[in-house]
Amino acid sequence: GDAFDEDCDYLFKAVLIGDSGVGKSNLLSRFAKDEFRLDSKPTIGVEFAYRNIKVADKIIKAQIWDTAGQERFRAITSSYYRGALGALLVYDITRRETYESVRKWLQELREFGSEHMVVVLVGNKCDLGQSREVEKEEGKGFAENERLFFMETSALQNVNVEEAFMQMITKIHHQTG
Ligand code: GDP
Ligand code: MG
Repeated sequence: GDAFDEDCDYLFKAVLIGDSGVGKSNLLSRFAKDEFRLDSKPTIGVEFAYRNIKVADKIIKAQIWDTAGQERFRAITSSYYRGALGALLVYDITRRETYESVRKWLQELREFGSEHMVVVLVGNKCDLGQSREVEKEEGKGFAENERLFFMETSALQNVNVEEAFMQMITKIHHQTG
């Protein structure tokens, strides 16, 4: 078997989704930086990062999938979502059109993902407050209506990145544990 799976209690799959350029890959490398493990799979256009997290007395291995840019062409396949228990749905607070796309990504998540998928809506690039085009309250309100979790982050300044991933992972843990 896979050496990754031997010393953990649970293995979760989660996905990153959202328009191109919103910061998905930078969020993932921030989160995964300590035990960084990025396996490039160019043939299927997907990358994975793993991180082990201790929740209570259990070790959870979070397997987080990142796109390899195919979101640019709206060409994410259903296999990307298959089996995912969580998602970070990311927009860029300085580009309103990326926020307008959130609805479309949510539809795709709900169509192809697990029924009880834990979704965290993430407004990234909060370090660029002077160029803000989406108010925090707006993202938060949308998330509440759609029963998503919400967080504003900065991958650049490492603000709330750990919190966003951990919120997703601990909620998944509570659902499945
Ligand atoms: P992806 O296409 O969603 O994977 O986005 P990337 O992670 O490749 O980031 C796109 C661009 O946004 C890059 O130039 C990053 O340096 C920049 N970027 C990502 N996160 C942040 C952030 O939190 N703040 C700022 N200012 N720039 C960011
Ligand atoms: Mg990327």
